[in-house]
Amino acid sequence: MERSKIYAGITFNENLKSDLAMQESTAKNRRKLNSFISIGIHKNGMNPISSVSIWKKVILPSLLFGCELWSNFSNTTLNDMEIFQCQAARRIQGFDTRSPKAVTISSLGLSEINAEIQKYKLFFWNKLYTGDGVFLRKQLFHVRLKTCTTNNINSLGFIPDVHNIMKNYNIEIFFGFNNPDDDIPPKGQWKQFIKRIVQNREEEKWRESLAAKESLHIFASIHTKLDTHPLWKISKLSVKDTWQMSDLIHLSFVWEVVPVICKLCGKTVTDIVVHFLIECHILFAERDLILEIIVNFLHVNDYVTFTNMSETDQTKFILGRRSQDIDLSDENWTEMMKYISKLIPKMYAKIDEYL
Ligand SMILES: [Zn+2]
Repeated sequence: MERSKIYAGITFNENLKSDLAMQESTAKNRRKLNSFISIGIHKNGMNPISSVSIWKKVILPSLLFGCELWSNFSNTTLNDMEIFQCQAARRIQGFDTRSPKAVTISSLGLSEINAEIQKYKLFFWNKLYTGDGVFLRKQLFHVRLKTCTTNNINSLGFIPDVHNIMKNYNIEIFFGFNNPDDDIPPKGQWKQFIKRIVQNREEEKWRESLAAKESLHIFASIHTKLDTHPLWKISKLSVKDTWQMSDLIHLSFVWEVVPVICKLCGKTVTDIVVHFLIECHILFAERDLILEIIVNFLHVNDYVTFTNMSETDQTKFILGRRSQDIDLSDENWTEMMKYISKLIPKMYAKIDEYL
């Protein structure tokens, strides 16, 4: 007996399980992403902001096509999609396979796939609710809604899913059991509202995941908003510096905070990035050049403030953290980071060689 049916390009399964449709979508879009390698979606290729725009405009809509009706799927299937997005984000930014998810997708300002699915379900729910009553789909929707509300809200499918999502975001008030035409915001307003609450929730979760990993403290101090990483934003203005910025971003998250022996000088240190940038005497020539740049961009008083900072804070500043204690305009900070980024690859090569 046939167990699944394709309708309008979406595979429906008899038990409303969407795993098959989702797995097929992941496989199809993985092939699509691979075909984009030739146009430059890879390290030393296209600027990551341009690449991620292709991801958002071409691949993501195709990956999530029909996701409004995906239901009853397993965590493994969803996780495969999250992994796929993370792999794509790595390829776009030239990060290696060890880059943590919280760093990798957030540097491009991307949300988790699950949040995107929830967003689309809530958009679609509003579309059905506010749709014209003469359309069959609205009539069907109302029948389904009545069945769900009068019988069992714990059943499977789109409406119970939306109910759960609304519960999760504390916006159940909009589920509108009794009077479907009341309190339903118009489409545009609803979309803005949903985007905002989903974004806020994602940002909250993201901050928690960064805070949970001590080795990400430098990254977290530089990339403070769930938006495109500030150094990638510079790379868009100055395309030739793009892949130098990648090295700077790498340095802010690539090593664990554990005691290790520096292979350059033999000293045992707890934070190897701080050691390389501030302390290791083997790298003094490279460090002097970096400090020279900082001297040139800061007022004397601010340079004194910089030298009085802890070694960790100095490291953060070199890698792109904006400090409230130092007066530096956006333009000057951008220029300073461009200069610093030119020196980092040299230093990075030396570090990399010994690790
Ligand atoms: Zn050393």
